[in-house]
Amino acid sequence: MPLAESNKRGYNSGSDCVAEAKVVEPRNYPDPGQPEFCGRCTTKMEPVERGGRPRPVCPQCGWTYFARPAFGAAVLIEVEEKILLVRRGHDPYGGWWMLPAGFVEYDEWAAETAVREALEETGLEVRLSKLYGLYYGSDDPRNPSHLAVFHAEVVGGQLRAGDDAAELGFFSPLEIPRNIAFHGQRVAIAEWIGTKLGTLVDPAGYGEND
Ligand SMILES: [Zn+2]
Repeated sequence: MPLAESNKRGYNSGSDCVAEAKVVEPRNYPDPGQPEFCGRCTTKMEPVERGGRPRPVCPQCGWTYFARPAFGAAVLIEVEEKILLVRRGHDPYGGWWMLPAGFVEYDEWAAETAVREALEETGLEVRLSKLYGLYYGSDDPRNPSHLAVFHAEVVGGQLRAGDDAAELGFFSPLEIPRNIAFHGQRVAIAEWIGTKLGTLVDPAGYGEND
């Protein structure tokens, strides 16, 4: 993984335990959604400066493509000083662990996504108690993504791995696996560990083998 000094963009979550100085920028993938041809009239797109950066613009009808990051939502479910993680069943990061999470659908609010993903992946019905933090990562080849992490309490359901989760587990701060999927998730989880242990925790330590 190519390492570069962080510009500290997007790591603020209100916690004092962010190891900002050691955070490294993950790789940036090219936008897989950038169109070669106009989505409206099929003319070949041309790069034109619009709003401060070059964007694909249709010379025929003028349609402009604006690349946008995705938005994800996750739940931080803490029971007896342990948090619930799911092991991913598929790539990217197949076999790696993360907070239950998913992409916000076009017509969804992030809080609804968090509740829906918790049920789909863990079988648990949850109630969100507060926003834990807002994170960002560009190491997902599908899209750079912001991630809203919510504190959540279990109010029903039955724990079982569902959807694309291969396995579930509750982990104490010292038991957290060293292969946490996605940079934003690593920063969020490192903050939680740091809060519990009262120390700074480097999120890069949870992306081993990356
Ligand atoms: Zn066009």
